[in-house]
Amino acid sequence: MAFTIHGLAVSQGIAIGHVHLVSHALLEVNHYHVAERYIAEEVARLNDAVATVHGELVGLKAATTLGQAHSEVGAFVDLQTMMLADPMLVDAARTLVEERRCNAEWALVQQMEHLVEQFDQIEDPYLRERKADVVQVVERLVKVLLGHPGHLPPKRRDGLGTIVVAHDLSPADTIGFRDHNIAGFITDVGGPTSHTAIVARNLSIPAVVGLHHVRHLVEEDELVIIDGTRGVVIVAPDQNIVEEYRLRRTELELERSKLNRLKDTRATTLDGEPIQLLANIEGPKDIATIRAVNADGVGLYRTEFLFIGRDTLPDEDEQFEAYRAVLKAMPGKPVTIRTFDVGADKALNTAEARFEPNPALGLRAIRYSLAEPQMFLTQLRALLRASVHGKLKIMIPMLAHANEIDQTLLLIDKARAELRAERIKFDESIDIGAMIEVPAAALSLGMFIRRLSFLSIGTNDLIQYTLAIDRSDEAVVHLYDPLHPAVLKLISGTIQAGVRFGMPVSVCGEMAGDPAYTQLLLGMGLRQFSMHPVNILEIKQQILRANLEELTPRVQRILRMDEQSKIREAMLKLGA
Ligand code: PEP
Ligand code: MG
Repeated sequence: MAFTIHGLAVSQGIAIGHVHLVSHALLEVNHYHVAERYIAEEVARLNDAVATVHGELVGLKAATTLGQAHSEVGAFVDLQTMMLADPMLVDAARTLVEERRCNAEWALVQQMEHLVEQFDQIEDPYLRERKADVVQVVERLVKVLLGHPGHLPPKRRDGLGTIVVAHDLSPADTIGFRDHNIAGFITDVGGPTSHTAIVARNLSIPAVVGLHHVRHLVEEDELVIIDGTRGVVIVAPDQNIVEEYRLRRTELELERSKLNRLKDTRATTLDGEPIQLLANIEGPKDIATIRAVNADGVGLYRTEFLFIGRDTLPDEDEQFEAYRAVLKAMPGKPVTIRTFDVGADKALNTAEARFEPNPALGLRAIRYSLAEPQMFLTQLRALLRASVHGKLKIMIPMLAHANEIDQTLLLIDKARAELRAERIKFDESIDIGAMIEVPAAALSLGMFIRRLSFLSIGTNDLIQYTLAIDRSDEAVVHLYDPLHPAVLKLISGTIQAGVRFGMPVSVCGEMAGDPAYTQLLLGMGLRQFSMHPVNILEIKQQILRANLEELTPRVQRILRMDEQSKIREAMLKLGA
């Protein structure tokens, strides 16, 4: 019998395919066979997880020593560290992976159950209770492993795709789907502006998140349909339903192909104002998509995708090639490359594991870069070297302090001096700009305008940090509101400051690619939008219908409102 589950729509489109469970609830892990040629990789995955958990425990222990955590925690941490080193746990699990060719999570849980049985037979109640420590250590390991799903299944032969079903997926997992014929994915947790959702949209993979217990409701290989536009998943549909959705998918494709006619039309408002439509990309693999929509350039190249989901960092030459490829593909057009925004949900495999009480407020983006100056310098050198191949602009994420800007500029100067000494050519007049994505930045624009050449508003983080809403937590997603008067004030204030001081300002957060906000942003004075290439033609259609003379005074009235309900009402009248 078919049934329907409702979640949060994060990536449009319809996918029909068979379920592949990549992770289960903690300790209810999936069991799958690992082909012999991948066994060494699977063992390495287990070893990496052990190293990460060891780092977490060391961090926790340090916190107890410094008095930042209860001292009793220290004793548990010691016990868990001992369990982690016990050959009866990890060594035995490793042997299971090798001998039974199974996945690491399953091997760990098998071994844990075996040990728990032995503990249950112990008479001494204190020792018997120590089984809880084994379980907790395995929980920690499984949690780490779930962030790195094992091998995805081979391409199916029945023409239907694979639908990945997971508790959660990291952005690194999602970017890996590109090469695996993944038709769509659904997860228990997650929010629509999480980096995972952003990657899905960029890859045009339909996705629904925040489904709570979807892993318990579907079975491996079961047929499901994802309606990524409505946020609905249909499990075990009958043939009639499948046909209906096939039809709907064809209609959507038809709509898209109609939009394709706008590809070579200039984005100009009805009253003749030209608008720049730029693309957000994750790497050279997106070149074909930006060309297909004839974007005016790249407004945001998220370079961290070159760094995450791998065990070694890309060296200067590898980075140079990736940046050069994009610059060369866009002759005469601006390419804004953002220095790596790692940390939080885009953690590096190579990073020293640390206990982070609140990762979104921790060592992320420019904070990480300045804490790792050598790694940052390598990227800056690669960027400068690539600059002779096109019109490069360098953008810095998450700046909030004048000294962060100054330190960054000093490092760029250092990279320039090194290259000059090595007689390596680079463009001497590269524009350096900042992302405005922390409220502190939006409220102190003078220090950015005095030091830099352009600004780009990252609405995803600006909203997250203004409203104190974790953008990847579905439990608070209803509070993530781009139309909150505080958010609107910060966005319009930044755009207006740009107009006043003659500094180019773009928006590169998800708001720029959402047609619901095009008129609003135009009325605020925005003339540069950067978004996933897949949204460019739809936004162009909105721009072609807009009349700035009419819009501007109406938007100014909205900006004076401080009640969300009134703003929503006025937005409806705006035709959004
Ligand atoms: C943003 O925060 O709006 C942004 C564009 O950056 P990211 O989504 O990569 O954090
Ligand atoms: Mg951001």
